[in-house]
Amino acid sequence: MTINYITTDTITDWLKEHLSEERFLHTMGVYEMAEELAEKFGADKNKAGIAALLHDCAKEIPFEEMQEIAYRENLAIDKSWINCKKILHAPISAYLAKTYFKISDKEIIDAIYFHTVGKKDMTLLDKIVFIADKIETKTREIEYAQPIRDVLNATNSLDKAILKSIELTIKSLVDRELEINFQTVDFYNYLLKMSVK
Ligand code: GDP
Ligand code: FE
Ligand code: FE
Repeated sequence: MTINYITTDTITDWLKEHLSEERFLHTMGVYEMAEELAEKFGADKNKAGIAALLHDCAKEIPFEEMQEIAYRENLAIDKSWINCKKILHAPISAYLAKTYFKISDKEIIDAIYFHTVGKKDMTLLDKIVFIADKIETKTREIEYAQPIRDVLNATNSLDKAILKSIELTIKSLVDRELEINFQTVDFYNYLLKMSVK
């Protein structure tokens, strides 16, 4: 299938060449899972597939280079993102998707941009890419992925699965003594409020 004349095969070939073996395998897992979830929840399967394929495309770019791009192109939602190695690959992947892969569809670009921290009022596509990234079966550790899969299977709610995912992320960041971005905290509080409504 083609979006803006670029095929999934062309993207896959590029990924194979530019990502580590593990990251490539992860991406293929996200691709499969995103298509599966798109079918299940009635989202655009093609868009979900493209967003999944490109969600981590910038992951192997050296951090300093990512920071340069982010400053130059004014890509980060907040300055704190520019100093966070773990988060910055998401807006940079969205930037590459737009400029290098010529993806003009804003829904796809947004799903890539917010796949790490999420945001309030996510679209169905945003949610699918976010969850597919956390529960793909090829590389994700069972300790983090299984509780999210369990919530999704039990409730059929992407929102509840996302809440579980953010909860696990925050716990893991605390355990690793890593800084929790304000966006992550805001999003967690928002999801909590939504879930008790
Ligand atoms: P990946 O790119 O497929 O490995 O997955 P993600 O894009 O979802 O996340 C990459 C990393 O970002 C994970 O290790 C998360 O724990 C981390 N991360 C998510 N939110 C935050 C945050 O608020 N602060 C920090 N420091 N890291 C975060
Ligand atoms: Fe990522
Ligand atoms: Fe990923």
